[in-house]
Amino acid sequence: MRWDALSLDGQEPGLFGTPVTVDTPEFRGITFHEIRAKSIINKVPGASRVPFAWTINPYRGCSHACRYCFARNTHTYLDFDAGHDFDSQIVVKVNAPELVRRELAAPKWAGEHIAMGTNVDCYQRAEGRYRLMPGIIEALRDAANPFSILTKGSLILRDLPLLEEAAERTEVGTAVSVGSVDKELWRLVEPGTPSPHKRLEVCATLGEHGIACGVLMGPIVPYLSDTPRQLEAAVRGIAEAGATSVSAIVLHLRPGAREWFMSWLRECHPELVAPYERLYGRGAYAPKDYQRRISAKVAELAAEYGVGRGGRPLRAPAPAPKVPPAPVAEQLPLL
Ligand code: SF4
Repeated sequence: MRWDALSLDGQEPGLFGTPVTVDTPEFRGITFHEIRAKSIINKVPGASRVPFAWTINPYRGCSHACRYCFARNTHTYLDFDAGHDFDSQIVVKVNAPELVRRELAAPKWAGEHIAMGTNVDCYQRAEGRYRLMPGIIEALRDAANPFSILTKGSLILRDLPLLEEAAERTEVGTAVSVGSVDKELWRLVEPGTPSPHKRLEVCATLGEHGIACGVLMGPIVPYLSDTPRQLEAAVRGIAEAGATSVSAIVLHLRPGAREWFMSWLRECHPELVAPYERLYGRGAYAPKDYQRRISAKVAELAAEYGVGRGGRPLRAPAPAPKVPPAPVAEQLPLL
């Protein structure tokens, strides 16, 4: 196992990262690898197009187990596989809170914005056991250091009082990702996550407590969650949750995610394998024109439903449109 990638704290690989198996229903089948990392605030490579320069990732691997997760390939750097191992072999940087506090206090630290939840979810189930985020947020609060959190996990609400305290001293941004409100699709492609409706409730609760929460509407899965009816159901739910913003992102399939997602597609939607091979035949991204049309449609719906202009209380879950099995052409008015 190439643990050197994790910059262990002066420890020999093999003497460290002791596997911990927790035999409770919540964690059955999951192995935690507890390590003490050497550093925790990571610089985003200059070539990256993401809108932040620094990140904190207290975990590697993610039991939320989204089929499409773009971070899957990073698990292979540790000699795990990008499929089931990514979902079930979770690396826990148990000293993350103390490292954050130390690195924020370093003279060279300039107090820049730090993004969390950008690689794997910092509020995945492991966080219920290890409780790393409270210490991290406390350190950021005490340093009045701006930060943001992207999550699919409802566990973020456990830390709401801390987020409120931090927001009194610095800029705190949150976002939940909800690509669709189709329950059937959710169970299949995001099997370890809270439901989309639960995530929208999280967004609403954060907003009610004065913590700005946007929605990353992603990924939108071609052929399975991209009809105007499905997009409208999602945006309506996002508006009702009082999200401050919504931005759409279409599924992309980089190595690691690609193989795992396609194996699922072969099993659950074999009729879509050939269309996907055409759509993603040239690389990780769907055609630009399709991405533009999805973004334009979501922007149009967001304006129509008033996303960012204050939400109404969430009513019953937005109706989840059924995914019609065939014909494919009828599912794809935006393709
Ligand atoms: S919640 Fe995010 S990090 Fe976790 S598996 Fe899903 S996409 Fe990946």
